[in-house]
Amino acid sequence: MINQLIETRVQCPYCWESFTILIDGSVESQEYVEDCEVCCRPIDFVVAVDDLGEVTVAARLQDE
Ligand SMILES: [Zn+2]
Repeated sequence: MINQLIETRVQCPYCWESFTILIDGSVESQEYVEDCEVCCRPIDFVVAVDDLGEVTVAARLQDE
């Protein structure tokens, strides 16, 4: 397994600002909470990495 960090651009579901997060490309799927860099509200990120290293990130509201 290659251990690499992948830079991905995401959009905050609260304030709609986009910013860059680093994703651990060695983990196929993961879910974690990180605060928005702009409005500091907690975003629930669901991350999937396929065999080619393509990253899909879904950003969800954490409350509701
Ligand atoms: Zn935000």
